[in-house]
Amino acid sequence: METPLVINDFLARAEVAYGDRVAVIDEADQPAPSLGDLTWTEFAERSRGHAAWLDYLGVPVGGRVAIISQNSARMLLSFFGVCGSGRVLVPINFRLVEEEIAYIVEHSGAEVLLVDPELVDHVTGIGHPRVVVLGDDDDLVYGLGRTPEPWTRDEAATATINYTSGTTARPKGVQLTHRNLWINAVTFSLHLGVSDRDIYLHTLPLFHVNGWGVPFGLTGMGGSHIVLRKVDGAEILRRIDEHGVTLLCGAPAVISMILEAAAEWEGPIPGRDRVRVVVAGAPPPTTVIEAVEMTLGWEFIQIYGLTETSPLLTMNRRRAEYDDLTPNERARLLGRAGTPSLGTALDVSPDGEVLARSSTVLEAYWDNHAATEEALEGGWFHTGDGGTISADGYLSITDRKKDVIITGGENVSSIEVEDALLHHPAIREVAVIGIPDEQWGELVTALVVTDGSAVSAEEIVAFSRQHLAGYKIPRKVLFRDELARTATGKLQKAKLREPFWSGSDRQVH
Ligand code: AMP
Repeated sequence: METPLVINDFLARAEVAYGDRVAVIDEADQPAPSLGDLTWTEFAERSRGHAAWLDYLGVPVGGRVAIISQNSARMLLSFFGVCGSGRVLVPINFRLVEEEIAYIVEHSGAEVLLVDPELVDHVTGIGHPRVVVLGDDDDLVYGLGRTPEPWTRDEAATATINYTSGTTARPKGVQLTHRNLWINAVTFSLHLGVSDRDIYLHTLPLFHVNGWGVPFGLTGMGGSHIVLRKVDGAEILRRIDEHGVTLLCGAPAVISMILEAAAEWEGPIPGRDRVRVVVAGAPPPTTVIEAVEMTLGWEFIQIYGLTETSPLLTMNRRRAEYDDLTPNERARLLGRAGTPSLGTALDVSPDGEVLARSSTVLEAYWDNHAATEEALEGGWFHTGDGGTISADGYLSITDRKKDVIITGGENVSSIEVEDALLHHPAIREVAVIGIPDEQWGELVTALVVTDGSAVSAEEIVAFSRQHLAGYKIPRKVLFRDELARTATGKLQKAKLREPFWSGSDRQVH
């Protein structure tokens, strides 16, 4: 027998096996009324109500519903209410500015845009889909007791489209199917050993590859979700203490924040010998990995993956063989991206690009056949990352083939920033590169050639703020007389990066 692998399975199991348990503790302090503590029965009822509301609006199966929100119980509900009824959720990064949001809403063809009250100002000019402010009409949106139209379960159906900045000026929509999400969630949970004793703190934004899919697996196993709206080191430690948190995920920048807060923390650090923290987005420094074990007393786990791979491709977790090593030796081994996750095959192309094959690899880029063909050429997914695989099977990411900067765990397309800056009348040429930074991993840096006008770095930053999300704005603007180019006029990014990266052993940070 074969039954379709759909994300509904996770919530269905939680409702049957753990109905009375507290499922989700919503953020108490938020602009919409907090949903408070919800049991799995209450959560599942609201998710059915959400689906019934989409029936009432006439959003068809396959119709797109966009959401732009900080982490919240309502956002978590949308994964089940929207995707679980055969519609497609488009989670949007809440840091984007209106121009960027408008592009995604339009490109995805969203019929409804759900928006957190705090972000309403970011969408005032977006008129065409129905805009619904979360929390305004809860009785209608999540009406209890309403039964949605049945959906014929289809694992090949698209569940989410996640927009990610890549090699093009505009972000690409990554189409992930129910099967992609299911396999990612189950494999991830297996590797992490997720159980009904897990209490998960949402330090990772839910829009980022659907919170890496951990929320699905955790739900299926009956764990609890503690919603966190804003990442703050001391607050994270407080919540870990208050709720007995066991699991969290984040970019290395989140870990740095926690370590800073730990230095000021009075009394024992909460979660010692209990918390496991999963880190990805950039290779974390060995000192950080060691501090997680020694200062916090938590288990450090590294994963590697992309939006296009749902995201799990590799995991590096302390193994029995590491027990007798010193913390520093262990940290060095855990600094690698890891071994392939169950069901994943990895290879490195002759020019050093990491290639992957897995049931977690995307179906397609939404409405972009050429990009899909290119990414999946030869039956392998081309990650755009440079790496090596050691004799013991461990992948290390050493380089980035694509022109992407990763800062605080978020992708920034250099080309997108260059495009925006070139609209400034005084800028004649620009190259945007990442330079290594202790706190953020990499800093977006603009090398600018002007037309001779006396434009300041501050003016350029203020100009880019009108067009780009805060995390994409150059943190440094450096003026140059000319930029290194090839004979055909192409920017020589490697040469431009060289003075900033010459002391590093890898070309990513
Ligand atoms: P995203 O699609 O936003 O999740 O970004 C994916 C990119 O993040 C990858 O292509 C890598 O460049 C980078 N990345 C993710 N995990 C790691 C890791 N463990 N080590 C190095 N780079 C990583």
